[in-house]
Amino acid sequence: MLSARFRPWHLLPFSLKYARLRLRRRPVLVNFEVTMRCNARCPFCDYWKTSSDMKAQELRSFVDAAVAFDPMMITWTGGEPLLRADLEELVHGVHRAVAPVWMTVLTHGAMLSVERARALWDAGIGQFGISLDYLDERHDRARGIPGLTARILTTAERIRSEGMTVRFNTVIKDDNLDEILPIVRAAEAMRVGVNLSVYTDFKNGNRAHLLGPAHQRRVDALIAELLAFKRRRRGTISNSDHYLSQIPRWVRGDLTTPCASGKDTVHIDPYGGIRRCPDFPTDGHWRDYTGYEPIACDRCFYACRGEAQAPLRLNRFQDLVASP
Ligand code: SF4
Ligand code: SF4
Repeated sequence: MLSARFRPWHLLPFSLKYARLRLRRRPVLVNFEVTMRCNARCPFCDYWKTSSDMKAQELRSFVDAAVAFDPMMITWTGGEPLLRADLEELVHGVHRAVAPVWMTVLTHGAMLSVERARALWDAGIGQFGISLDYLDERHDRARGIPGLTARILTTAERIRSEGMTVRFNTVIKDDNLDEILPIVRAAEAMRVGVNLSVYTDFKNGNRAHLLGPAHQRRVDALIAELLAFKRRRRGTISNSDHYLSQIPRWVRGDLTTPCASGKDTVHIDPYGGIRRCPDFPTDGHWRDYTGYEPIACDRCFYACRGEAQAPLRLNRFQDLVASP
């Protein structure tokens, strides 16, 4: 299964919840951004510049929002969510209120120990998503955290060997196109998963890693190899075949489908504000959410945007039941 937390019989309550959300036109996935603070130093994101004074304004509970949306999936994100010492409490409260729910925590991994992972897993987390864009010290430099890659690789394997589900969150950029398959193969050997996304400059305008016409042939070849990998072995790469196959179109600028962010997925910031997606400004309090219309925006091709448009085909079902 996508998460070791679940058994095949869980598909039934999740399917019922999915049908109810679709009928009510409510988001299937809600991101809870628990803090904008971060102790990494990524050059393509300004969250780490958030003042520590903002800590006082962060929500102390996400239960009300979770109950109001009652989604199928929740992503605990930031900033760096593990900076919240009360993250286990936040997760546990929400899990108790809206299970069944598939919850992932996204982290840069520098503070993730096996003990913390166990506490979060017991609170209700069903997957640890750890950012990993390179297999060597380039990743340490990109995050501004010395020794990070070695730590991630060791911790991920230990967490997995304790029966918990780990996936690398890997962003495809201009300078790691040759690194993607090695990351996928390393994940396969470690029996952890990989979720791929595509770099965007929308976070702070840093265009240094954008994919463009100069990368098109390599992107086309990479995607063909990733799809071939998936045909050979499902479970390691959690992206849908549909999402992967659309990446070359997005790089070419051929993807003109309006973005459904805010409809199937929605983002709640640390202060209770709601956004259609992580990189759009806050529109008001989450209590005032009445839905978003699709928007003609093409600034990113994050997995959350692309996966929301993936049709429910047999191979999507195969991805759901396969394990890393
Ligand atoms: S991209 Fe993530 S890890 Fe990097 S500074 Fe932003 S929030 Fe922190
Ligand atoms: S394409 Fe969609 S998810 Fe991406 S930045 Fe635009 S509105 Fe947000």
